[in-house]
Amino acid sequence: MRVSQLLNPTLREVPAEAEVISHQLMVRAGLIRKSAAGVYTYLPLGLRILKKIESIVREEMDAKGGQEILMPVIQPAELWKESGRWEVYGAELFRLKDRHNREFCLGPTHEEIITDLIRGEVRSYKQLPLLLYQIQNKYRDERRPRFGLMRGREFIMKDLYSFDRDEAGLDESYQKMYDAYCRIFSRCGLAYRPVEADAGAIGGTGGTHEFMVLADSGENAVVYCSECNYAANVEKAECRPQVTEAVAVEGERKLLHTPEVRTIDEVCKLLNVPKTSLVKSLLYQGDDKLFLVLIRGDRELNEIKLNNALGGFVTLELAPPHVVEGILGCEPGFVGPVEVPVGLTVIADEEVPLMKNAICGANKTNYHFVNAVPSIEFRIDQVLDLRMMETGEACLKCGAPLKEARGIEVGQVFKLGTKYSKALGATYLDLNGEEKFCVMGCYGVGVSRSIAAAIEQNHDDFGIIWPMPIAPYHCIIVPVSTKDVLVVEAADKLYQELQRLGVEVILDDRDERAGVKFKDADLVGYPIRVTIGSKTLANGQVELRERKTGETQLVLVEEVAQQVKTIIEKALSF
Ligand SMILES: [Zn+2]
Repeated sequence: MRVSQLLNPTLREVPAEAEVISHQLMVRAGLIRKSAAGVYTYLPLGLRILKKIESIVREEMDAKGGQEILMPVIQPAELWKESGRWEVYGAELFRLKDRHNREFCLGPTHEEIITDLIRGEVRSYKQLPLLLYQIQNKYRDERRPRFGLMRGREFIMKDLYSFDRDEAGLDESYQKMYDAYCRIFSRCGLAYRPVEADAGAIGGTGGTHEFMVLADSGENAVVYCSECNYAANVEKAECRPQVTEAVAVEGERKLLHTPEVRTIDEVCKLLNVPKTSLVKSLLYQGDDKLFLVLIRGDRELNEIKLNNALGGFVTLELAPPHVVEGILGCEPGFVGPVEVPVGLTVIADEEVPLMKNAICGANKTNYHFVNAVPSIEFRIDQVLDLRMMETGEACLKCGAPLKEARGIEVGQVFKLGTKYSKALGATYLDLNGEEKFCVMGCYGVGVSRSIAAAIEQNHDDFGIIWPMPIAPYHCIIVPVSTKDVLVVEAADKLYQELQRLGVEVILDDRDERAGVKFKDADLVGYPIRVTIGSKTLANGQVELRERKTGETQLVLVEEVAQQVKTIIEKALSF
């Protein structure tokens, strides 16, 4: 390809609406253009990157026995009503009606469609297992789409669904996909981690991993072990309770007048005690039920753990002040676990009953208790791991200190079990002629999102630094001058030679200043740049530069093609 003929409109300015670096660089490098909020056109270079990721994904799915299909974007509401998701999916589901007033949605996922397919086609255990996948557009009506491909309203995913005879079969399919995903992200040249994740709203029999591309700008916090392979989403990470020393307070439990002292910090300051000696008492409302939740003063409550433990409410939030007043008779800042009204369930984090004595609210505005003994004086109905993991804590598997990193979720593998096969009636006849539900798994890769994640992980002040396997072209040739015939000829010759060697090469033949060409080459992020200038060419040399390291070297004209090829082959070997 010649740059003079390529639709690659680069920009020097950062587009105003682009908040994240991947969005900024994709627009500036001329990879995408916005059609509507969260909806993009892929320009030629952007599409090449997308196709490369797609083909890596496709190869790995096929290698595990996946069969590619293509399901419709438009899905009938009936199926979503059958699975029970039409109501619960909420405003993010793009809904539409046809001319006969029949309801449809634009698919954000395809469990309903594929389960409907299988219930019609699979009769016998002999037809199982099945691994079916597609690479296709998905839709999600984001409230404020503003992160480019990171969180668009239209995006491209690979989704595979596994159908097995039983749980053992599902375990096998799950492992296959887990392994395939490791290969996919390694082959894309990305630094990633599979982490134990929260089952969240998809619902299922448990067992899920998220694949995180590590990047400082990532929206997910991940804890990982410095010694073993343990890694988990912070929301999921299991904590080991830690015992704290007793607070130095003499005598029995005492009611203390603490006017206007509401927060943990204010209590600590007034009484000159560490946060570890306090119990935070929070009245939570899960749908229409109320719970008093207790956690040590220095800890952060993990609402996802709480909601999972309580059985998964649609909404779980702190009860508003008037509800607190109504139930406990005080302002929220003075809620406590002593003498809680009968009927109100009290749930404590594992560390609370281990506290020897504690300071807590007294359920009386402007009063706290000191020297309360949790194991005796608190009526605790349930003890659970409810807190957020902190960096530096010991790994539950091996005891080494845990570290924290940030990541961007680009893939998820998920054991669904029989949730959808039961809801939609996808059954088969087993060896004994008995009717059984298919056991399902679902496995997604955010294909378009992976492009954004790759950029978030690989960029500098000058632009994108593509990992070789997903670079739009591997090598760009930059003739410094288009006026010097010798330079132009040498550039053309090298261009043809590299093409002959099978190198994906692009020639910047534009009549532009060298500085402009260099800036664009860095911005787009081609891994290798070969610069041809009259001065070095007079000595029979050209300049070879690697984008990632910035290292340049002078190479003999007749040797440069082979050298470029060697660098590429080395980077692509897996
Ligand atoms: Zn460990």
